Formats: sequence, C-alpha cells, structure tokens
Amino acid sequence: MLIHGLLSVSLLVSGAPAGASQAKIDCARVKCLALTFDDGPGKTTPALLDLLKKERVKATFFLVGNKVEERPAIARRTAREGHAIGNHTYSHPSLPTLFDDDVLDELGATQEAIEKATGRAPSMFRPPYGHTDDRVLHLASQHDLAQVMWTGTTLDWDLRDARKIKAAVLRLAKRDGVILMHDTVPATVKAMPGIVKELKKRGYHLVTVPALLRGKKPEPGASYPS
Ligand SMILES: [Zn+2]
Repeated sequence: MLIHGLLSVSLLVSGAPAGASQAKIDCARVKCLALTFDDGPGKTTPALLDLLKKERVKATFFLVGNKVEERPAIARRTAREGHAIGNHTYSHPSLPTLFDDDVLDELGATQEAIEKATGRAPSMFRPPYGHTDDRVLHLASQHDLAQVMWTGTTLDWDLRDARKIKAAVLRLAKRDGVILMHDTVPATVKAMPGIVKELKKRGYHLVTVPALLRGKKPEPGASYPS
C-alpha cells in the first residue's frame, strides 16, 4: 500500500500525462479533495488554468452553455488539460421553476455546446443556485447526467476578497470534500496560488469529481456527493 502511494506521487512529480497521473491517485488510500468552479468559461478562466497547470492540479468546471458558445477555445483548453467538465445549464436559471421541456432544453443545449467545443458531452451537471428536486433529477437522467452538488461553498461571489476566500476554503476543506467556487470571480483566481499551496501542505491530493468517486461512473439521475 505504501509502495503504491509512493509510486503515485513520483508519477505525479515526474510529469506523466495529465490523465494518467490523476488516474494513479487512489482516493481510498490518500486524502483527496475536489475543487470545483462554476459559471465559466470567463475572462479570468485562462489565468486559473495556467496556475492549475503549473501546480499539476486537476479540477472540475461546470460550464454555462451560452458562455461555451462565446469562448469555445477556453472550454477546449480546459478539457485538453485534463480537467473534468460538467453542465451548468445554458442560461443559468433556477431549474425547479421551469416546465419539463425547458429543463430538458437548458441541459440539452449545453450538452451540445460542450460536445461541439470539446468533442465530448459531460456526464455530470450542477443545478444553478443549487436549486433542484426529484423532477429535475429525473429530467437530467434523460440526458444521462448525474447531479453534483458540494460539501462546502465559499460564497466567493459575495466575499470578493482573496484572503477571505482562502480562509473559507481552508475552513471547508475535508477528506473527499467538494468545494464550490467560481472561476468568474477575479478574487478567487487571485486566491488560488495560496489555496493550492496550503492544501498541498496539509496533504490533500487535488482531484476531479470523477476521481473522487474512485473510478465508479457517475450514475445518471443520482446526486453526488451522497
Ligand atoms: Zn452558477
């Protein structure tokens, strides 16, 4: 078990291909945490991707369909660099307030936009504002989507202060946690170098949501973390 752990770390450090190094991290054996970023791609996303690349950290991005159509190259880069991508609807409505057909359209148009930009349709979605119910979950399953919520929200859009955002993440961090942030909040991007450095120091492996599920495929219509 120890040897396995050491091997994973050495692969990570020696610069194995993005997907490969992440696949070697076994969250059953090491302390994992998933950083997730909603509402992009936006103007500040490339700076965040630069930092994650430099630190060899993988994250999960829940993209808004109309923004993917505005900035398809950033969505493509996000996927190419080994991050996980999820659907965050096309126009960011509160889904439980919509008719069935409109929920299906919000999710479906985003599946199409992301597939067009990255070559692959997501298997996960996150409902805007965290507003969801059984009907939304059932409709999402018709697009083969699992729901991904979070264990801790930084409220970064409200804090808008890098030091406070860093403190919030460190307070919320826990093994197998899923932290909600926004790559569209400049202060979040500014806070990330310090956040990544401190989380690594505390022994966290920063992984995608699928990696956190320990290789199990997210099940359509189910909600994570359970
Ligand atoms: Zn959102």
